[in-house]
Amino acid sequence: MTFQNIPKIELHTHLEGCAPPSFIKGLAAEKNIDLSKIFASDGGYAFRDFDHFLQVYEAACTTLQSPEDFRRLTMAVLEETAKHGVVYMETFVSPDFCGGGDLTAWRDYLAAMEDAANEAEQTLGITLKGIVTGIRHFGPEANKPAAKCAVETFGNFITGYGMAGGEMVGRPGDYAYSFDMAREAGMPLTCHAGEWGGAAMVAETIRDLGVERIGHGIGAIKDPALVEEIAEKGITLEVCPGSNVVLKAVDSWGNHPIVKLRDKGVKITVSTDDPPFFHTTMTDEYDMLNQTFGWDNDDFKTINETALAAAFCDDDTRARIAKRLETQ
Ligand SMILES: [Zn+2]
Repeated sequence: MTFQNIPKIELHTHLEGCAPPSFIKGLAAEKNIDLSKIFASDGGYAFRDFDHFLQVYEAACTTLQSPEDFRRLTMAVLEETAKHGVVYMETFVSPDFCGGGDLTAWRDYLAAMEDAANEAEQTLGITLKGIVTGIRHFGPEANKPAAKCAVETFGNFITGYGMAGGEMVGRPGDYAYSFDMAREAGMPLTCHAGEWGGAAMVAETIRDLGVERIGHGIGAIKDPALVEEIAEKGITLEVCPGSNVVLKAVDSWGNHPIVKLRDKGVKITVSTDDPPFFHTTMTDEYDMLNQTFGWDNDDFKTINETALAAAFCDDDTRARIAKRLETQ
């Protein structure tokens, strides 16, 4: 049984992290950049652990040097994602990787990504929205230009603000300035927390950054009162089980807390994070959830409805995508 063709919503992806290895290899060859060290013998990305993963990720990003590169990247990613039934996708995009935080350059990169997204919507039937993302391990000061870029370009394509990168750098409150700036501009917020930092990091992220979604959030499971708070506040978790297993945030699919969180009333969604890095796709995630926990079409329908309700898009887009889900 495979769930490849049912319509899916994916809220937690990193645009560069979705880059097919063959695409990055091609760009590296065009630009004479030697990236042989980041690829395994099977052609996929090679890394040892989470910190090494971040290094390999940033090395792959060195090939992406212009708006045109990001236009091609966006199209390559959407072609791949649409094959797995994804009809709506949100992706983290970072001004740090697109012009080094400069607003004018950022606008050019963004126009290129939006151009590809519009084309893919027509030709592939997949809708893409972007979430501007600060990189946590670059430090609180470096997140301020990212937030400024977010606020200045909030609109049709850019629909939210968030933070990714090394979770153990600083505490959530150190980044409150950037999140406050985005919130005051009316942007919905998400932040990676509880992938590595445990329940305390999730609790501080909710308290100090006022987010409506949490990237991962699985560390909350260790604190029953926090799980209850997340459920009561209606905060949605962007859960990425395959990513958690490969990076060893959990030791196996069977021990992943996604079912326990759902059973406690937490809003759960499913995403791939950085699919080629983690040798996964949305089809693989659904197949593994089916094999491990017996989830079926009804479970996936609920997951997708939850994801659509938590999506950062405008209401017209939400209504349009809701119709696509009805075909399941
Ligand atoms: Zn992520």
